[in-house]
Amino acid sequence: MRTPVVAGNWKMNGSKASAAALLNDLKAGLTSSTAEVLICAPYPFLDQVANVLNGSGIKWGAQNASQHGSGAFTGEVSVSMLADFGCTHVILGHSERRALFSETDELVAEKFVATLEGGLTPILCLGESLQERDAGKTIEVVERQLMAVVEKAGIHSFSNAMLAYEPVWAIGTGLTATPDQAQEVHSVLRTKLAQLDVEVAGKLPILYGGSVKAANAAALFSCDDIDGGLIGGASLDANDFIAICQAA
Ligand code: PGA
Repeated sequence: MRTPVVAGNWKMNGSKASAAALLNDLKAGLTSSTAEVLICAPYPFLDQVANVLNGSGIKWGAQNASQHGSGAFTGEVSVSMLADFGCTHVILGHSERRALFSETDELVAEKFVATLEGGLTPILCLGESLQERDAGKTIEVVERQLMAVVEKAGIHSFSNAMLAYEPVWAIGTGLTATPDQAQEVHSVLRTKLAQLDVEVAGKLPILYGGSVKAANAAALFSCDDIDGGLIGGASLDANDFIAICQAA
């Protein structure tokens, strides 16, 4: 009942030339995708992404946004600017933002609210580190990250959002969570939200991210509570990304 979603997270990669080639290959190769496909590109490429993908059925978004509306915030990019460039989605709370740029649960919650107020769909990333998993704290950590946003934004805001479970130890490492490991966490997250609103929880897309490749995508996506993927490294290769979209 949930449409599968495959989102590419290019991170801080690419050039005008490489982006043009990748976008054209994706546009040509994804004409018959049944999954909802979107590309989250670095800010400077958004105009180019919009020009190439407009009318293609592939959506696009950003990898972060400011919690502020406008004004004296040097270096920041607002949700309304993203909307102006045709973005429909924003990745928020990615583990790299949390770990390298000190984004707290509270800040991520503020950005989540600002994104919704600006009419865009937040993709809220959650995930435990290897240390936390080894200490048996996986569920505690992802529930804390989730509930910080639920408390600020309210459960009903999740009818216009997506979650992405991304175990930190699986991101860019080649170590993928097994389908069972991922399904277990996805199911816990959905059950937690269902305690607040069954319908919202039932409709919410929960994506898996962390070393998803063409070879492991189908097994992950076949799990009951895994509704697609957030794809980093493999989204930079058109053939790999198209194969992942076809597996969804
Ligand atoms: P990866 O990254 O697919 O390269 O592991 C996923 C992500 O960070 O969103």
